[in-house]
This record gives sequence, C-alpha cells and structure tokens, in this order.
Amino acid sequence: MSEAGWEQHYVQDAFAKNWIAPLGENVDQFEKEFADRVDQKYAVAVSSGTAAIHLALKALKIGQGDIVLCSSLTFAASANPICYEGATPVFIDSEPDTWNMDPVALAKALCTEKNVKAVIVVHLYGIPAKMNEIMALCRQYQVPVIEDAAESLGSTYHGRQTGTIGDIGIYSFNGNKIITTSGGGMLVTDNSEYAERVKYLATQAREPVLHYEHREVGYNYRLSNICAGIGRGQLKVLNERITQKRRIFYKYQQLLSDLEEIHWMPEPKNSFNNFWLTCLTVVGLDTRQLIADLAAENIESRPIWKPMHQQPVFAQRQFYGNQYSDQLFTTGLCLPSDTKMTNADIKRVAASLRKAIQRAKHNDLINSERSDHAV
Ligand SMILES: *Cc1c(COP(=O)(O)O)cnc(C)c1O
Repeated sequence: MSEAGWEQHYVQDAFAKNWIAPLGENVDQFEKEFADRVDQKYAVAVSSGTAAIHLALKALKIGQGDIVLCSSLTFAASANPICYEGATPVFIDSEPDTWNMDPVALAKALCTEKNVKAVIVVHLYGIPAKMNEIMALCRQYQVPVIEDAAESLGSTYHGRQTGTIGDIGIYSFNGNKIITTSGGGMLVTDNSEYAERVKYLATQAREPVLHYEHREVGYNYRLSNICAGIGRGQLKVLNERITQKRRIFYKYQQLLSDLEEIHWMPEPKNSFNNFWLTCLTVVGLDTRQLIADLAAENIESRPIWKPMHQQPVFAQRQFYGNQYSDQLFTTGLCLPSDTKMTNADIKRVAASLRKAIQRAKHNDLINSERSDHAV
C-alpha cells in the first residue's frame, strides 16, 4: 500500500462502521498488535505517553510522601506525573556507556533515601539503559520499575524490547516520535492487575454496570478509535522506520569519521538502538555556536535534553551522581534525523557541521593566541 495507505484504511474503516466515538475495534486491535510486537501480555492505549506514566504511578499506588527515583537526563514528561500524585522526584545521573541512568548513583540513592516506592528509567534517544544492573538493584530493594520507552520503541536489550523488562513500560506516539498517532501513548505490562486497573482509571473509573457508577476519581485518558487506526497503520512501518533511522546514523558517522572531536552516541554491547535521533557530543567546543552556524544554513539541530536537576521547576530536588548529564547537555548535539532524509540531505548537514566545527576550532585558536599576547 502507498504512503499512509494503511492509516487511511483503518481510519476510514472506523468512519464506515460509525465507530468514531471513544474505543472500538481499532483500539482493541492496536493494543493486541502492539502487545504482540513488543511481546508483552497486556497493552493499554492511552491519550499520551505522559498519561501512561501517570497511570503507571497510579497502578503502583504512588502518593504523598513517596519518593520516586527518575533519570535526570530526559524530557520533563518523565518526571511531571510524579508531582501530579504529590510524590517527590529524586534525580539520578547518567553514565558514559549508555547516557542513561547510572547504576552506581542509583545504588547510592536506594541505600540513602528512605521511602523509595518506584524507579522511572528512561531509554533516551533509543539507547537502552543498563537494565540488568538496574533491575538487580531494584529487586534487591523491592522497588518496582517503570521503563520510559517513549523514545525507544523497537530498541532491544539482550534481545528483549525496551519497555518490557521492568514491571510497567510506556511508549509515546506524539508527533515527533518514531511512530505517531498525532498524539497518543501505550502502557504495557505482564501483570493483569496493573493492566485492569490502568484501563479502569483511564476510562473515568466507571464501574461495570449499566448506569454511570463511580467509586473513585478517574481520568479521561483513553486513545480514540481514530487515533488507534492511525497507530495500527504506523505499527506496520515501524521496522522500516528503524532501518531508515539506523541508515541515517551510520551515514553521518561515516561522513564525519575523521573528526576526532566528535563522540557519537553509544550503541551499547548487547543492545540494538532504534536511533530515533542521531546525537553526538563535541568535545571542547561550544555546541550553542555550532547550532547557530547550522541554523544559518537552514539546518535545525538541537541541544541534548537539559537535565531535570538543572530545571528551575525541580531545583530543590535531590540529585545523585557526578554531573555527567550536565556534561552531555553542554557538549551534546542532536542532528536532523527525519526518515525521509536522502543521502544527499545527510551529506549537506554533515558538510555544514564539518565547516562549523572547523570555524569554531579556528576561533578558539585565535582566542588562545590573543590571550598568549596579552600575558
Ligand atoms: C515524548 C516523551 C514523553 C511523553 O510522551 P507524550 O506522548 O508527549 O506525552 C515522555 N518521556 C520521554 C523521554 C519522551 O521523549
């Protein structure tokens, strides 16, 4: 079928069957197909990845006075739902092998902080975190693990899908993610109680009786049947997307392999990245200037996520680590990684980045000579 063919098919099907209103066949099938794809027993389709994290915390009964440990280097949506429940986020640093949660810092937090009730571990930019170490620690302290796999759908760790290694996993289908429903998310688990509870809370906590009966406060968090139709079509192109994302990463790497100052994002041993975005760090140079230089050539690049422990909204929160995430933030760069990019597009970006790096090094040299003269 043509580009967007399956998406249109399922959406039209929903119209034809007059199933535009909440839920319906597409939602049921999307959940089933998604659960099969990641090899989990239960999948619950919801309105966003953020809603999925919120419901995961609800399923684990997180509330006032509880502490939730969370990766610091991430998008704010990983941590915000902790605050929705009146719990306290405590942030854990990154480590160099994966850019993700540092098991050493996690161990320190687990033995220092009292009342830790959950851990949210993020697989940033599609790089799997060190789940063996993280799961072993969390099992030892009997703390459940939520995997934020919003950016890592299709990435694997020792052959297992990211998002299916902890107790609950979440994914996002926001417009910028590897597949999209224009907005949406998914929660997966092998635990039937969690799955039931999440479905119930996501549908306004409606009791299974004819009239509207409610014993608890609920949420309007379900994915619509139309969006689920788009999701079913998108799921069919996921593997193709990953192939394209990986092609883009390796093309950039090949074109810029001679530049020693570039350190590429890791693809750890026994892991398979979906390479949602191609990211790198440039050692010893100001990436803000590189971003400006690329923008002047109409190329949009971005810094790495700013760590949560540096965000004004979370400034009062505890942090465990050695500031490696801060280093990634100041030296990091995300390159254009759209799956529609041709090799010629990638070459143009790579050439511009090369020029920007050479200019920055040249300026550094002049500045250091100037300061030599000044002495
Ligand atoms: C996108 C994203 C989310 C939130 O997903 P939404 O569907 O936008 O609510 C959560 N965590 C990470 C790491 C993300 O990148």
